[in-house]
Amino acid sequence: MILAIASGKGGTGKTTVSASLASVWPGPALAVDLDVEEPNLHLFLHPEIAGAEKAYMEVPLADESKCTACGACSEICQFKAISLLGDVLITFPEMCHGCGACLEVCPAGALTPDRRELGEVSWGQAGKIGFLMGKLRVGEAMSPPLMRSVRGKMAQMQAQSGADVIVDCPPGVSCPAVNAVMGSDMILLVTEPTPFGLYDFRLAHQAFAPMNKPMAAVINRAGLGDDGVRQYCRRHNLPILAEIPFDRQVAQAYSQGQVVAQASPAMKVAFEDLAAQIRCLASGDAEAEKEAHHA
Ligand code: SF4
Ligand code: SF4
Repeated sequence: MILAIASGKGGTGKTTVSASLASVWPGPALAVDLDVEEPNLHLFLHPEIAGAEKAYMEVPLADESKCTACGACSEICQFKAISLLGDVLITFPEMCHGCGACLEVCPAGALTPDRRELGEVSWGQAGKIGFLMGKLRVGEAMSPPLMRSVRGKMAQMQAQSGADVIVDCPPGVSCPAVNAVMGSDMILLVTEPTPFGLYDFRLAHQAFAPMNKPMAAVINRAGLGDDGVRQYCRRHNLPILAEIPFDRQVAQAYSQGQVVAQASPAMKVAFEDLAAQIRCLASGDAEAEKEAHHA
């Protein structure tokens, strides 16, 4: 199973939930940080990194001596990453999406594949939990191609270990966030019970609902704010699987880079219960989910 842990906005506690679930998961778990612009799952799981590799994207390299200034490449590029200024060819590698179309259409063989570094994919082990993360290079703006590299490694590691995968997704509903939840078997939305939280939670729910995957919510910092998120969930039949209280012990564990599920016996039980409900929901076993919920 691949579980996507998402949120409509940053700072809701998505990574706290990801790390805690991985720590109590019954069976082999692979924790994956797909929030490649700002990965921080490793700050909680403290993995031992066993390997790392750079990820690259193919971009065109122009040979001016061969270019006939026909303009075919600049016409086909949808991203204005290659242009003719008079008869001078200019490339903007940082705007290139690596589609390869310009290389295909150049009739003069003036373009050859070069590569741009996107960032790094690294992996390892945090106790019994497998670990994988991507980290975007500083200054790089395009995260989906790096996310594809992380997912490639993720498929390999999952096939080798047979582990269930817990994916810490980028926040929001932009391209990287949608990209991250695609391919998952279930989406868990983490939110906080405030009007801001509700606004972004609703956007995330609306963006991901058309994917027709099992979806559920976790309310973090319960006790703050109002009842808007709960009312929204009731209206949309979105089960709330857990409420993490807004209390000093949880905040202290978080601020010290500890896994919240390990902060107290009560928290551990709460996350074990959450894991059990997720497994039931993901397998479509509604009755078992109810039992797990009321156990
Ligand atoms: S590879 Fe695609 S995006 Fe990049 S410059 Fe060529 S046509 Fe444009
Ligand atoms: S398609 Fe090739 S020959 Fe034509 S402008 Fe582009 S690089 Fe030059």
